[in-house]
Amino acid sequence: MEKDYLIRAITTNKEIRALAIRSTDLVNKAQKSHQTTPVATAALGRALTGGLLVANLLKSGSEISLTISGDGPLGRVVVNANYKGEVRGYVGNPNLDFMVNDAGKLDVGGAIGNGSLTIKKNLGLKEPYQGSIPLISGEIGDDLTYYFTKSEQTPSAVGLGVLVDKDLSVKASGGFLIQLLPDASEETISKLEENLSQVNSISSLIEDGVSPEGILEKLLEGFDFRVLAKADAQFKCKCDRNRVGALAASLGEDELKDILEKEGQVEIRCHFCGEYYRFSKEDMDAILSNKA
Ligand SMILES: [Zn+2]
Repeated sequence: MEKDYLIRAITTNKEIRALAIRSTDLVNKAQKSHQTTPVATAALGRALTGGLLVANLLKSGSEISLTISGDGPLGRVVVNANYKGEVRGYVGNPNLDFMVNDAGKLDVGGAIGNGSLTIKKNLGLKEPYQGSIPLISGEIGDDLTYYFTKSEQTPSAVGLGVLVDKDLSVKASGGFLIQLLPDASEETISKLEENLSQVNSISSLIEDGVSPEGILEKLLEGFDFRVLAKADAQFKCKCDRNRVGALAASLGEDELKDILEKEGQVEIRCHFCGEYYRFSKEDMDAILSNKA
């Protein structure tokens, strides 16, 4: 069976860097974890896919957080991704009603609304690097394209696509990121523009079974390229029972006592993956006495 993975390549003339990813399974897992409706699935899936592309440009050990804050009904979209191809994320309103735009497509831009996109990079330095741009369309691919061009001064093209099936599962998901390197010639730029204009739906390519390598062959048609890195991609959270238990303990004894009396247990749901953690009075006593 095909798996989700990402590749990063460079043209042999060293003028273009290109990444492509298949993210169908990981977006499917996110859809199931958060029970998202189609427009929320499309928004979350694009953000997860884009986050992985951004994170792959970093050095090993680094991670990014991507936050889209819009005034639309979807609320915030938050994604954490790392260099290893692990990603997690959530949207403010996973139950958003079906929304389509004039073209009959899922209206991600309308669901997100106006606002900003912020990328924080934790590079292991004291201060994380942070860049922010106003949203261009809220469609996420366009916004990331603008982010790279404006905030990192790297002319780029980002394509992201998620195809949701009738049963709400994810039929296909994927993306690409193309960047011009400083020595790119006019000839390279115009050939690349021509190639880009011929790829109109990344999710249909994935649906047709085209691999990340095959996507780059289309985008880089006429150029020789070399794949520099390949990484598995997966939806994976960092939460665990110990960490969540410590978080529960930080609610304070009065509040915990109150919750335990009313509910019989303390239940905490991880925002990022939807996992529930439940603690009985005995569990909480053990956590608190360990802490003391
Ligand atoms: Zn989690």
